[in-house]
Amino acid sequence: GEERAMALIDLDGFKFVNDHYGHAIGDQLIKQCAIIFQKVCGEEARCYRLGGDEFALGMNGPLSATILEGICRSLIERLQKPISIDDRRITLGASIGLSRSTGSDGIDSSEMLRRCDVATLASKRGGKMRCTWFNEAFDRSRDALRELDEDLRRALAQGEFVLHYQPLVDARTREVVAVESLMRWNRPDGKAIGPNIFIPIAEESGLINAIGLWVLRQACTDALQWSGIKLSVNISAAQLRNPEFPIQLGDILEETGFPSDRLELEITETSLVLDPVIAERSLDVIRGFGVNISLDDFGTGYASIGFLRQFRFEKLKLDRSLVVQASEDDGSRAMMLSSITVARAMKMDVTAEGVETQEQADMVRAAGCDQIQGWLYFKAMPPEDIAQYLSGPAE
Ligand code: C2E
Ligand code: CA
Ligand code: CA
Ligand code: CA
Repeated sequence: GEERAMALIDLDGFKFVNDHYGHAIGDQLIKQCAIIFQKVCGEEARCYRLGGDEFALGMNGPLSATILEGICRSLIERLQKPISIDDRRITLGASIGLSRSTGSDGIDSSEMLRRCDVATLASKRGGKMRCTWFNEAFDRSRDALRELDEDLRRALAQGEFVLHYQPLVDARTREVVAVESLMRWNRPDGKAIGPNIFIPIAEESGLINAIGLWVLRQACTDALQWSGIKLSVNISAAQLRNPEFPIQLGDILEETGFPSDRLELEITETSLVLDPVIAERSLDVIRGFGVNISLDDFGTGYASIGFLRQFRFEKLKLDRSLVVQASEDDGSRAMMLSSITVARAMKMDVTAEGVETQEQADMVRAAGCDQIQGWLYFKAMPPEDIAQYLSGPAE
């Protein structure tokens, strides 16, 4: 047999376009994608539409794995630019899974396709806009994931989630000025599982919408008693893409009586790159309630200074990785300083996250950060422990 490689491309955001702009636009979008993909493949690989928003690429011959991976990378690169349909500019994401066969290993096309499918899931979990090669370990972890998803549904129904809160301090006075809610999952078997593990799974199955509403309601209820400080809540991209979200948020504010000007939502750039138009519309509604928006995890993704100028945020949160790097190399420090300069010019507050050492605290304070969050001052703690750190009289 001959060496072969296959890629499965799963578009992100297509279903959303179809639901909100209509099938006619959706169909045109798929046609445009097919043309783009064919162009990127050139003479070397074949491109097939599998149905829905999935495409497959196939290639035979020596070096096919290497070449196909290169093609997939160019494709991801191309998708960074919006696709024009009528007068709309639509940006889609893609998650790509790759698999290969030596030609003598007995792996047939249907097994290759299955492997691509499994690898695509891994790409999605890895943050999308990636290509991932199939790996035997994925087959084992996939069963574990399915189980975890069922566990998550049960956890929500049975109240196994709890919220902890990490205080943010004023960079100068060191007083607690806000708390960020951070989810914890206490399983009945005694194991505690962190959000980095279960949030991506909930995002994929859509359960994040229900979980996210629970978080907001619980956090607003808890924080009602901590007057004078702000409450920050993490909102995932999947939640913001749900057009119902602003209305649900409004309902929660009304139900709980939590003052909207004390709430801030932390969103990441992925919320905004997939469909900037819808996201901006939702953010406008949310801001209309008086709720502030923070850009979270700055310094980890593609988000650049240009991004800060394009969207308005009330606050910028410098990710822990940027804080750590900035205390180690000059290039990262320069990047941090220029981000702070731009943020300041745009009247954004800046919080440094993950500050663990006095040296880092001094550095971010000198750099002009307004708030500091990190283990140097506080770890996340259960709600009943927060009140003792609030200086003002609890009225
Ligand atoms: P994040 O929004 O970047 O939150 C900060 C994370 O850094 C938290 O991890 C926090 O415990 C940790 N951290 C804070 N200070 C330090 C420090 O000084 N050193 C170190 N090493 N770590 C520090 P956690 O609680 O494990 O949360 C992880 C991520 O899970 C969060 O990252 C956030 O993206 C997500 N997450 C947590 N709760 C929710 C939620 O309710 N909804 C959504 N959508 N995502 C959530
Ligand atoms: Ca899809
Ligand atoms: Ca956050
Ligand atoms: Ca972060």
